[in-house]
Amino acid sequence: MLGRVLEKAEREQVRFGLTLRRMEQLLGAIEAGGTKWVCAVGTGPDDLQALVTFATTSPDETLAHAIDFFRGHGVEAVGVGSFGPVDLAAGRITTTPKPGWANTDVVAPLAQALGVPVAFDTDVNAAALGEWRWGAARGRETVCYVTVGTGIGGGLLANGKLVHGLVHPEIGHMLIPHDRARDPFAGACPFHGDCFEGLASGTALRARWGRAGEELDDEPGVWALEAEYLALGVVNITCAVSPQCVVLGGGVMKQPPLLPLVRERVNELLAGYVAAPELASPALGDRAGVVGALELARAHVGTASP
Ligand code: ZN
Repeated sequence: MLGRVLEKAEREQVRFGLTLRRMEQLLGAIEAGGTKWVCAVGTGPDDLQALVTFATTSPDETLAHAIDFFRGHGVEAVGVGSFGPVDLAAGRITTTPKPGWANTDVVAPLAQALGVPVAFDTDVNAAALGEWRWGAARGRETVCYVTVGTGIGGGLLANGKLVHGLVHPEIGHMLIPHDRARDPFAGACPFHGDCFEGLASGTALRARWGRAGEELDDEPGVWALEAEYLALGVVNITCAVSPQCVVLGGGVMKQPPLLPLVRERVNELLAGYVAAPELASPALGDRAGVVGALELARAHVGTASP
């Protein structure tokens, strides 16, 4: 009898030990942006044990900075949400116009230096994952995260899985209707001119109006036009992938009138044909990307290093 009790206690202890170890599994995350990198160590948004932000300089210098940061922390895997476009299988940034960064290997140097598995995805897929796991889109199956900042990017999670494919979603470069009588601006995308990003990014706002978004409060029609383009983007996403929730983040979305205007216009454009998805601000704020990268890392713990 006593033997059986002891045996059970031992089993419980083993189980408790395993649980503890799981809870303590320390993960690394990088939000690799074109202007700055954010690196963090922790287990989730309420447990970020260290966080550092530094400017994106040359690839060698920037990667070395990240490696130095993680070396002292004993992480079990690192997740990277990167600016793109990227080659997901090769772990590499590909055709970026950012000087010095085209065809930069990201995964290999990190994995070699740190000796842990490195997960790799786009910055916006990481943010979509973060908002789905912990933020505004929790509990949904199909979720889109759109960031409207210097550029426009979109990440997509369908039926609980991040969407990849030919490359990865490039929502910022969708083509949307452009009424040149209302808005003669030619567009700011170096590849397509008046694509979604070319018409509605922060760069487009500045080029069209001659001032940055935050200085345009007094300009009539600025936010109605911006909301029109963002709503057209959201309607296309809605019709193509049927998300239950679209999270709209990035610097431009911090303009208070914008989200309600977009919501109203999405409803008008859908014209009652299908329900509009919930449009939400990121619950994780500017940390959606780096927190999502932690979740990317979690899925890679214990896998073979590339
Ligand atoms: Zn474009």
